[in-house]
Amino acid sequence: MSSIYAALIGACCGSFLNVVIWRVPRGESIVSPASHCPGCGHQIRARDNIPMFSWFLLRGHCRNCAEPISARYPLVEGLVAVVFAAVTAVNGVGWELAWQLPLAAVLVALAFIDLDLHVIPNKIVYPTAVWGLVSAALIRPADLPTLLAWGAGAFLFLLVTALIYPGGMGMGDVKLAGVMGLYLGSSVLPALLAAFLSGSVVGITLMARHGAKARKMGVPFGPFLALGGIIALLVGPDLIQAYKDAFL
Ligand SMILES: [Zn+2]
Repeated sequence: MSSIYAALIGACCGSFLNVVIWRVPRGESIVSPASHCPGCGHQIRARDNIPMFSWFLLRGHCRNCAEPISARYPLVEGLVAVVFAAVTAVNGVGWELAWQLPLAAVLVALAFIDLDLHVIPNKIVYPTAVWGLVSAALIRPADLPTLLAWGAGAFLFLLVTALIYPGGMGMGDVKLAGVMGLYLGSSVLPALLAAFLSGSVVGITLMARHGAKARKMGVPFGPFLALGGIIALLVGPDLIQAYKDAFL
């Protein structure tokens, strides 16, 4: 039952994240003006702004000018709904959700922004870091030193990787990894592993298909970090336990 509530909250949150994904990297305000059609500028009415449903009811077109509306909008809403429901189902309802759900939401937003524009905006990363510190101090104060250490470790690890392979990664990725360590603690290990593995698979696939051109396609690393972070939120501790059972 709590997962259904989480999905509903996730869909609404996804609707807001669509605004964030579009406006924040462009330096626009996320509160005003109200959502409008990018085609005709017509303000979107409340009944046409219901997550996912409105897009399907309007068959992906603006009610005013019939301009197509990207399927990206319902996709992000659906994705955040599923992620919120899964995180709540796996971890249960508790204060921990106050850091788990914001982290999941931020990761989805940053994945799409990085995919679109190849940037991971500080305007999102810095407040996320602050909430990581504040929420840890409030909810799990005993873990704070460990979380800070994992954050610093993940930051340094990606910094070194970025220095060894310039061009593959930017400072945005390095800072995001640090923030993920601050939230996830030891689960940042499986998160980074999943990010590097999935990034390599996609990179090798592109190389196989497009040859030398693939290098110039410049696939950003942020979406893979986001994927790793969400995997860690869901099964991070289980993956660490499985590793210990197998090798230690
Ligand atoms: Zn329109």
